[in-house]
Amino acid sequence: MTHHPPRFTFDNSYARELDGFYVPWEGDKVPEPRIVLLNSDLARELQLDPEALDTDQGAAVLSGAVAPEGADTLAQAYAGHQFGGFSPQLGDGRAILLGEVIDREGKRRDIHLKGSGRTPFSRGGDGKAVLGPVLREFLIGEAMHHLGIPTTRALSATTTGETIYREGPKPGAVLARVAASHLRVGTFQYFAARGEQARVKQLADYAIARHDPDLAGRDDRYLHFLRAVLRRQAHLVAQWLHVGFVHGVMNTDNMTISGETIDYGPCAFIDAYDPRAVFSSIDHGGRYAYGNQPNIAQWNLARLAETLLPLLHADPDEAVRIATEEIQTFPEIYAEAWLAGARAKLGLCRVEQQDSGFINALYAAMEGQNVDFTRFFRRLPQAAEGDEAPLTDLFDDAAAIRAWLPHWRDRLASEGRDPDAIKAEMNAVNPVYIPRNHLVEAALKAAESDADMGPITRLLEVLRAPFTPRAGLEAYEGPAPGDFGPYRTFCGT
Ligand code: AMP
Ligand code: MG
Repeated sequence: MTHHPPRFTFDNSYARELDGFYVPWEGDKVPEPRIVLLNSDLARELQLDPEALDTDQGAAVLSGAVAPEGADTLAQAYAGHQFGGFSPQLGDGRAILLGEVIDREGKRRDIHLKGSGRTPFSRGGDGKAVLGPVLREFLIGEAMHHLGIPTTRALSATTTGETIYREGPKPGAVLARVAASHLRVGTFQYFAARGEQARVKQLADYAIARHDPDLAGRDDRYLHFLRAVLRRQAHLVAQWLHVGFVHGVMNTDNMTISGETIDYGPCAFIDAYDPRAVFSSIDHGGRYAYGNQPNIAQWNLARLAETLLPLLHADPDEAVRIATEEIQTFPEIYAEAWLAGARAKLGLCRVEQQDSGFINALYAAMEGQNVDFTRFFRRLPQAAEGDEAPLTDLFDDAAAIRAWLPHWRDRLASEGRDPDAIKAEMNAVNPVYIPRNHLVEAALKAAESDADMGPITRLLEVLRAPFTPRAGLEAYEGPAPGDFGPYRTFCGT
């Protein structure tokens, strides 16, 4: 056993360059920090020593109780539109930025501790997190990463030895979260809402240096920055839809500048395809429904654009015109990203004029049919060879899909590509395994109620290779059993 303290080579640009954008702050002392999950691969990627982290000293650091050498821990300020209503002050109410490290590929990554105690941004909250939601964020973030979707990731989940009261007593926990940055749309909104234009500019230049360094120094950099964020978000949300992901709380404080998915609270994956699918217990209007996510992304980007107006043009009317024109490109950029992903799911290569109509006809055929979205795409290759039954069995009424399939086969044939190659390509983008809601719940319950980390550890292992079917893992493949009932998720726990 090694017992040297975990060493971090911090390079804290946020603390250094953005004085006034945060409050220096430390995590709470906690009675008994203990690592329950450690992401050793990610630790190595960050040039950290997993063995040094997996110690009592590592647990103390990863819970926020002890600041490692060289840390300038801080709580970040941000605002945000929550369900459309503006809160001028949110901020890290239960988290601190431990610091930034440079990873193996030279990329700057934040290490952030969520659940580390109250901060000046806590408002009425206790500043704490509990084990179930911490493990959910760990699990879903890893699942997204291995699905090839940009995301923040979990370095560790640490229990604190505290009892935290939610709807009952729960084990307290801290998530160590790794992100390309924690800059959010809401970070810009915080300073713009205060009329602190010089700070918005400073923040934009910081964000450009960090995420779009090619734009640094250009006169038109702020417009191109807006465009870059827009493109990242369009591609991200398209990827979400292609795996059936519902974020659940796309508030502007939960939308990154980097294009990574952040904040796995009330998120879920659809079993049955349904554009109106909502899981969050508080999303009564369906604002953040599965099929509404692109619209919301555009809405959020318009809020970012508003903060940048004075940087876009000296004449306010001209600035609004420029911003509006940019935001209006979203539907087309999104549609292109979505169509490219849909073609890949269907084994199609060629771009054709009628793709949009043709592919939308497929989704229309799935709607209202209780079709398991994930299984549908895994069974599709068989239907290319004429074996339709396994696929059509997924439908309540298969008339529409039977009518669509011959068009798809004709289209595949017209591309003249090797059928085995097509099948392999489809299976490389259509997962066998996703974090099915019922499996996630069972794994979290075992961990939280019985301190049994077996189910979550196995589920994490399955989700590390989501495109590769393995014998013996059939239980991880299908939708929830009928008695699982409608799935409800919760925010801010
Ligand atoms: P979230 O719903 O996790 O995106 O958080 C929205 C805002 O609420 C952020 O400012 C959080 O810091 C804050 N918040 C959520 N839970 C707590 C808590 N238990 N204590 C203090 N602040 C919290
Ligand atoms: Mg949040």
